[in-house]
Amino acid sequence: MAEHAQVLIVGGGIIGTSVAWALAARGVAGVEVVDLDLAGVYASSELNAGGVRATWWQPVNIDACKATLDFFRLRGAEFGFRERGYLWLYTDPGLWERALEKRALQNTRGLDVEALEPSEVWRRFPLLDRARAEIVGATFSPRDGLVNPNAVRAWYRSEAERLGVRFRNRHYVAGVATARSVGAGGRVRRVSHVDVTEVIRGDPTDTAGTLQEILTTHRVPQAAVCAESRIHCEVCINCLGAWSSVLLAKIGLRDVTEPVRRQIALIDVRATDLASETRLDSLGMIVDASGLYFHPEGSYVLAGYSTPDEAPGFDFAYDGQSFFENEIWPRLAHRASAFERCGHVRGWAGLYDVTPDRSGIAGAVAGFSNLYEAHSFTGRGVMQSYAVGRSLAALVATGQFEGVDLSPLTRERFDDRSRWVTEDLHI
Ligand SMILES: Cc1cc2nc3c(=O)[nH]c(=O)nc-3n(C[C@H](O)[C@H](O)[C@H](O)COP(=O)(O)OP(=O)(O)OC[C@H]3O[C@@H](n4cnc5c(N)ncnc54)[C@H](O)[C@@H]3O)c2cc1C
Repeated sequence: MAEHAQVLIVGGGIIGTSVAWALAARGVAGVEVVDLDLAGVYASSELNAGGVRATWWQPVNIDACKATLDFFRLRGAEFGFRERGYLWLYTDPGLWERALEKRALQNTRGLDVEALEPSEVWRRFPLLDRARAEIVGATFSPRDGLVNPNAVRAWYRSEAERLGVRFRNRHYVAGVATARSVGAGGRVRRVSHVDVTEVIRGDPTDTAGTLQEILTTHRVPQAAVCAESRIHCEVCINCLGAWSSVLLAKIGLRDVTEPVRRQIALIDVRATDLASETRLDSLGMIVDASGLYFHPEGSYVLAGYSTPDEAPGFDFAYDGQSFFENEIWPRLAHRASAFERCGHVRGWAGLYDVTPDRSGIAGAVAGFSNLYEAHSFTGRGVMQSYAVGRSLAALVATGQFEGVDLSPLTRERFDDRSRWVTEDLHI
């Protein structure tokens, strides 16, 4: 027999957890979250760089990040929020000109972004002592910074649980049952859990669907078998991150999101005089013109680089020393002599969930009366988590976004290129 949830959130990463908390905070009862692994071993929410900034080039991304940073600031110590700014270096005159244009937009939204002449960059960031001639300018956004994403997700979860949300761990979403009514006859068809995709796709005359049940498989403690749960729900929200297609495929929708591997390396600078000479722990995020980004992490430096030719796929392999030697170290040492003698400690890979315009997807899923989604936030999910959770919860509860209007982010935009929310300030 099926169990019942009023709102079933599929995926308990930082986005699903934030939505769960925001729903419960609005007084919605019967909210449940299912996830195959709430520890998040493969969840991007546990594998990211912890950078948070509102300095984007698209208004909806600026607003969602700004609202989230304002929220982080309220709980600064609890969330490990450090308002140390983002320094963004430019070598391409065309891009620099665009950055100056976008700075005007950013500052109308209260970001106080500074445009720095190269001489000012060297004065304020003496660490950057190499290849200075190629820099044409930089922006510095003092209100951006760094956060502890694990602490943020843990807070959303503990608050959600306090308000009655149930989190089900080790539940792998394996099937979906939908019903569709067609025309005046109101035919309702239950679909097998086993091969849902094929059956649904076989009936193109269907017009409106309802997601009825999610089938999960999960291990039962003290038993050698996997058990199944059928969870009937009134509302379902797809928060599967880079796995959003798992659910969408089961209801016959093609996802536009591609999972793409992103790697980060932890760097030991203790053998150098970097820490003492440059006051490493006062630095925020530095984004080099090469695409390399780095920031201090305790007495280490965390550095990432998104290799442009990375093929899409669910790839979590970290390339190790070769990633450090080929991608990270040359770019660091090109910009700062202090990194000459730094060492590779370790690193990891996680997934960006990348859409064609590199902005996230949030809203109601057209063609279904009770299906919503919030995923595909590329490298931006932590810094948009609060605004997305709050606004999507309002949409579910009242039919309207609230706080930040996320309507530019609905999936229908991909049917019309003029509605794409193309985000270029991307690392
Ligand atoms: C290397 C790297 C660096 C990043 N740096 C930053 C940064 O500095 N700042 C920032 O804001 N963002 C950053 N991001 C992006 C950010 O981490 C993500 O946007 C965000 O974590 C996405 O959260 P999510 O909840 O949508 O997805 P996830 O955290 O991936 O959660 C999805 C959940 O779905 C579950 N799941 C998957 N399949 C199933 C299934 N079949 N059944 C049940 N559960 C399932 C998973 O277990 C997982 O818990 C970075 C990402 C990476 C990879």
